[in-house]
Amino acid sequence: MQLLTKPNLDKLSGKRITTEEAINLYLNTDCLELGDLADQIRKKHHPDAEPVTFVIDRNINYTNACTTACRFCAFAFWPGDKRTYINSYEIIHEKTKELVELGGTQLLLQGGHNPELKIEYYEDLLKRLKTDFSDITLHALSPSEVDHVCNVSKLDIETVLRRLINAGLDSIPGGGAEILVDRVRDIISPLKIKSDRWLEVMEVAHRLGLKTTATMMFGHVETFEERLEHMEKIRQLQEKYCGFTAFIPWTFQKENNSLGRDIACNVSTSIDYLRTLAVSRIYLDNVINFQSSWVTQGIKIGQIALAFGANDMGGTMLEENVVSAAGTSCPTSMKEIIHAIHKTGRDAAQRDTQYNIIKVISRN
Ligand code: SF4
Repeated sequence: MQLLTKPNLDKLSGKRITTEEAINLYLNTDCLELGDLADQIRKKHHPDAEPVTFVIDRNINYTNACTTACRFCAFAFWPGDKRTYINSYEIIHEKTKELVELGGTQLLLQGGHNPELKIEYYEDLLKRLKTDFSDITLHALSPSEVDHVCNVSKLDIETVLRRLINAGLDSIPGGGAEILVDRVRDIISPLKIKSDRWLEVMEVAHRLGLKTTATMMFGHVETFEERLEHMEKIRQLQEKYCGFTAFIPWTFQKENNSLGRDIACNVSTSIDYLRTLAVSRIYLDNVINFQSSWVTQGIKIGQIALAFGANDMGGTMLEENVVSAAGTSCPTSMKEIIHAIHKTGRDAAQRDTQYNIIKVISRN
């Protein structure tokens, strides 16, 4: 990495920073100063009087059969393996019912790239869920799954998205972004869609009026400059339609996957996580919400992230198979999330997928 001179924080405050300035901030700024700068920017969007938000959601993985074999994945099996499954509608219905009974509003549906599943499967699933649970927000199918549906059903992105929207799709999760640099993708997920295709799916979604999130999985083979290249692509696309509701940076989990076993990875420390979160809050000045990744960092670092630019605790994750399969298990209930927020001196609030407040839970 290039060593630059110590940045002048007063000069940087309040203006859009360049990629070079962001790299310099990461390399040459004291951790607490960096957190403070990110926190000041968070306060411009979300003053302290606003509660820290969370969404009650459930992640249902409809299938774990996948032909993409990402090297960081500890969840999927190749089609034909006896450990693969496709969840029946009855199972998905039951899990959704539990979510609704707990006051949940968001169903995150994600799965492997299963060649058996054509667009009709997804249309049928979304339609049935919308019929049975009209108030649930269907936050489903990341860009690589959308691309997979395009390939299996021989359709273009816009046709697929229009059909899924008609069936009940409400928004798209930003998974599968990892690092939007093809040098990195060729190492960690050579069979997955390339950066341009991920961005193309998101651009079409935004043009059609769908809101999405954007993620970044870091702390493996990428350089810090490549993290910034990823953020630059997100910032550029956000200028067009303002379709990203949130940026969600999280760290690679190294257990039970070949990337963790075989490749010398620069696995992130908590400090690296917090510094990267802070730089992303400062750099991505056109994204309003930043999630704390307590699922990968644990609830304590998740709390500290609220002082490094994050304003939201993400989902309560009633069910989460992908990260836990890779060695992280933080079974944190909603009560614990609320307690953790209150202990930072702020109120908590349940929100919906579009970040509208549903209910404030005051700390007093
Ligand atoms: S991360 Fe997703 S696309 Fe990659 S192997 Fe796992 S299920 Fe398949």
